[in-house]
Amino acid sequence: MVKNETVLTFYGGVNEIGGNKVLIKDGETKVFFDFGMSFALRKQYYSPPFLSPKSEKSLQELGILPKLDGIYRFDEKPREVDAIFISHGHMDHSAYLSFVKREIPVYCGETTKIILEALGEIRKADLEFNVEGINFQPFRTGHTVKVDGLEVEPVHVDHSVPGAYGFIIHTSNGAVVYTGDFRDHGAKDEMTREFVERAKAAEPVAVISEATNMTSVSVSSEKEVENKLNHVVSQTEGLVLAEFAYTDVDRLNSFYRTALRNNRCLAVSLRQAYLMEALSVDRRLRIPRLGDEGILIFRKSKERMYAWEKQIMERHPDKIVDVEHVSKRQQNIILTMSLYDLEQLAEIQPKPGSCYVFSSSEPFNEEMEIDFERLVNWLRHYGLPQYHVYVSGHITPLRLKAALKEINAEKVFPVHTENAELFAKFMRDTKSQVEHIEKGREYRL
Ligand SMILES: [Zn+2]
Repeated sequence: MVKNETVLTFYGGVNEIGGNKVLIKDGETKVFFDFGMSFALRKQYYSPPFLSPKSEKSLQELGILPKLDGIYRFDEKPREVDAIFISHGHMDHSAYLSFVKREIPVYCGETTKIILEALGEIRKADLEFNVEGINFQPFRTGHTVKVDGLEVEPVHVDHSVPGAYGFIIHTSNGAVVYTGDFRDHGAKDEMTREFVERAKAAEPVAVISEATNMTSVSVSSEKEVENKLNHVVSQTEGLVLAEFAYTDVDRLNSFYRTALRNNRCLAVSLRQAYLMEALSVDRRLRIPRLGDEGILIFRKSKERMYAWEKQIMERHPDKIVDVEHVSKRQQNIILTMSLYDLEQLAEIQPKPGSCYVFSSSEPFNEEMEIDFERLVNWLRHYGLPQYHVYVSGHITPLRLKAALKEINAEKVFPVHTENAELFAKFMRDTKSQVEHIEKGREYRL
């Protein structure tokens, strides 16, 4: 019998942070790993909300959505892709599921399924993020998923969103490891350790590795973030305003504990509340409940409320606070606030001695474009000093090199990075050959 050929093709995540779309073909079997939105490409043409894509046609025309047959729901051709695996729920890995044929099974962690479905509700009618009707097939660590001849072993990793996985893919030509996005300095570093050990044991021929953090790396940990938050909050006399990704539950825990230690309540946004409620069914996840002491839900002043917002307000009436409440009790509150909410400051009127903590894990946030210039103008106007307290969702270079040396594959394919060349040079004294990836080119194992 002729052995199957195994071919890797990268349709995204090449010389860019995010947008990962990796196709593994093994004989007749075709499986995608991640199907994310490319912020970098999208940013070249669009600036939402006023200039945003109106159809998948323009996204394909501009090369933001790759031209592929047998995968999109708007394409009449029969399905050609057997399955899609999603490593975690960040948009740059999952958003373009929006366009995928609903009969293609989508494998992801149980927590990721909850997150994507909750975000789907929050972002209803968003062309680029719609998971309605997606055939989710949730897995957990320890499960092995078989797609024809391919066997995929998901293993949890630590990242700035819960439910993140790396994969060990057993192909006809040896194991291929895909790291997804990972780090070993978060609240769950032991998960990454386990992933590296399992990857090593598989004696892989290739590793597809993220290499995000290569320039301006800072060394810290979630524990250190919490200590720093305490340092800031314990000395603040007025309101503490906090910006962080609402899907980052480790940061949520750090802020919540800091609030309790300092006799404050943490007022979360309605969308964070909605996600927290959805995640509360996940028993393995340790996050505060909406009913817990010290949790409040901030209701912005606005005219129109969405159905999901009304649901949260109806289910937790005693937890809802508005601008007036926050304004009166500034010294007792940490208010989480996105850049879209800065308008609320006009009604809150932060007192002298208030401050702003920017705590997003990445400057290239998975949730939005950050416009620092405008943020600083608002903070200047209200006399709010800005603290930057964060830790990256991505592994640091020395730790990454150590992990890849331990896994010891013949080839390494760097994705999710703007510094592939730097990374290749940094790795040149290891036994692994770092491949130079070109988008759309086929790499035979
Ligand atoms: Zn990513």
